[in-house]
Amino acid sequence: MLAMRSPDGERSPPIALRKRRRIADGCAPRRLQTTMARMSILPIAVWGESVLHRVNRPVEAFDDALGALVADMFETMRAAPGVGLAAPQVGVDARLFVYGWDDDNGVEHKGVAVNPELFVSPYPLEPLTPQDDDEGCLSVPGYRYPTRRAARAILRAYDEHGEYYEKEAEGWLARIWQHEYDHLDGILYVNRLEGKYGASARRQIRAEGWGVPGLSWTPGVDDIDA
Ligand SMILES: [Zn+2]
Repeated sequence: MLAMRSPDGERSPPIALRKRRRIADGCAPRRLQTTMARMSILPIAVWGESVLHRVNRPVEAFDDALGALVADMFETMRAAPGVGLAAPQVGVDARLFVYGWDDDNGVEHKGVAVNPELFVSPYPLEPLTPQDDDEGCLSVPGYRYPTRRAARAILRAYDEHGEYYEKEAEGWLARIWQHEYDHLDGILYVNRLEGKYGASARRQIRAEGWGVPGLSWTPGVDDIDA
């Protein structure tokens, strides 16, 4: 059932349905608050917010503030719902992401990656397969496109307590890591789309009125199936 999942958003209606819903519900992303109140579920920045499109800064302190941010990011990711979330997506310029995904055997893969390094196998060169290769992103809510990713990855990172670790993954978990790691370099999956998929995504982003700073949506508050 990989086809039904995407790195950030697990459920996504057909695009036509989404666009009707968006118009009907009038739930356009709101202005991002410059000072975010401390709360469990954080606003998610939408394509165009500058922190999403630049290389983020390394985390320097493994302190209580980092622990609180990680807790809020997990809460926000689950509420979205999604299987990964990077700090810039909640407006924080920091090289940090969280992930949480249950595989087909019900085994939970969950973690925090602070100041990560990612090593990947060569990209497969076969044609992309819609559905099997589809990704979505909570910062580009409601859309999914086939995205080329390496089949295997090695993640080296620190957890929120400063403990260093190394893990290996293949398949969907490797895809999640690649998607989230990209965020820390200011790369969204839309930037990687090929040919007609990239053209279609750029057209839809323009049609949504995204691409300007200050847009966000909040899981549980805004009625968006990301
Ligand atoms: Zn994303």
